[in-house]
Amino acid sequence: MSINTNLSQLRSQLPDEVTLVAVSKTKPVADLMEAYEAGQRIFGENKIQEMAEKQQQMPKDIQWHMIGNVQRNKVKYMSSFVDLIHGVDSVKLLNEINKQAEKHQRTISCLLQLKIAQEDTKFGMTSEDAYALLNSDHFKSLKNISIVGVMGMASFTNNATQIKEEFTDLKNTFERLKKNTPELEIISMGMSGDFPLAIECGSTMIRVGSRIFGARNYTN
Ligand SMILES: *Cc1c(COP(=O)(O)O)cnc(C)c1O
Repeated sequence: MSINTNLSQLRSQLPDEVTLVAVSKTKPVADLMEAYEAGQRIFGENKIQEMAEKQQQMPKDIQWHMIGNVQRNKVKYMSSFVDLIHGVDSVKLLNEINKQAEKHQRTISCLLQLKIAQEDTKFGMTSEDAYALLNSDHFKSLKNISIVGVMGMASFTNNATQIKEEFTDLKNTFERLKKNTPELEIISMGMSGDFPLAIECGSTMIRVGSRIFGARNYTN
């Protein structure tokens, strides 16, 4: 099936308030352009250099989201253009993003990545760490970043009950954090395999790759 068809089928299933990030990692610019022609303007990548290369080649009205783990020494390659960084999991990283954003006289929006999966392989902060960060004086002194929500990845499992528990956990953490930090508005959760469940649990932003662009081939 074509990218165009995949996209329109997917969109027809989404409530208006849910934002779709088209995850285009490993895919060629031609595929991204097909999605662009079909009206898609938000793309997610998980490698900074790959995102920067695609950004240079593509129309400038695209919003680029960094959804992967961010190495601090590479923040500078995306700080002039990145629209939202999903995977912020430490104060050190936040400091670097703030510093690079300041150089470009802009504010970079970020999501705090929380660890909701039981798997050890998934990254993220605890809800206590996130709470402490958002309520610290240090955080308030960082003028060139804005934390606008949370992000999480559920366990890689077919157990819908477990996935639902993990998504609900993120939604609850979001509500708890929002009490003191009312500017939080985004809950980024849900991928190709679990986005309907994520939306049921309160997701406002889903990150969908293979469902739009087809399976990824990591051998190249
Ligand atoms: C690759 C990736 C996705 C998209 O995965 P699909 O299963 O292809 O939809 C979503 N979020 C993150 C963080 C990813 O790395």
